[in-house]
Amino acid sequence: MNTEILLSISGLHKAFGGLIAVNQMQFDVHAGEIVGLLGPNGSGKTTVMNLISGALSPDEGKVVIGGKNITSLPAHKISHSGIARTFQLVRVLPDLDCVENIEAGLAYRTNPLWGDAAHKAALELLDRIGLAKQAHIPAGDLTYIDQKRLELGRALALQPKLLLLDEWLAGLNPSELQDGIALVRKLKDEGLTIIMVEHVMDAIRSLCDRCVVMNAGTKIADGTPDEVLSDPEVVRAYLGD
Ligand code: ADP
Repeated sequence: MNTEILLSISGLHKAFGGLIAVNQMQFDVHAGEIVGLLGPNGSGKTTVMNLISGALSPDEGKVVIGGKNITSLPAHKISHSGIARTFQLVRVLPDLDCVENIEAGLAYRTNPLWGDAAHKAALELLDRIGLAKQAHIPAGDLTYIDQKRLELGRALALQPKLLLLDEWLAGLNPSELQDGIALVRKLKDEGLTIIMVEHVMDAIRSLCDRCVVMNAGTKIADGTPDEVLSDPEVVRAYLGD
């Protein structure tokens, strides 16, 4: 495995009023790795993703990518530092077709693309994510999995080093799930580093190099999928004991 640390979070703390959502969280992500962020509902996973992507600022702690401290930077600056994300509820522009949706993403890059260059890059990206045939279909008319592909494409348009997937594989039928897993694996093979919040065990076992497990805002395990899923503390947390 590549030993270069791409992302490092340390001492991360976030409270909402009296509720501590994230408590002294700390983990590293190596370049090229897929890390699963697991834990029961309400354990703080989405808050961690929001703290990394700049949707929220931590009360304490640090987020560092590629040696650069990005803690509390506004979301657009964090995206220019190489982090892109998808959302639990798919966010595409329903009235625009797939090419236009990707072009809108390309305009937000550090080195924005416009006009013919954007059009060409959008078609290439749609091909890469398996949407070449749907290029001119309005996003709102796509199937659910294709909307998910498109949202992923919009994130990839930003040319991230680190991709944050928030339950990207949730709600797919078994054959769509296999296609979704294959696409994430392809992105990893292309060199992308990924953090995924995920509940789908097949996806976790087949994709994640490592899993960080949270419970009540705190990290309770960090290891391979097999290690963490057989850890008694993790099993207890999931069973709500
Ligand atoms: P998970 O993604 O693991 O389900 P979250 O990070 O969404 O967990 O939530 C962690 C805790 O923080 C939960 O108790 C949730 O209710 C609370 N929480 C999350 N966001 C907010 C917010 N904006 N305001 C108040 N409480 C919040």
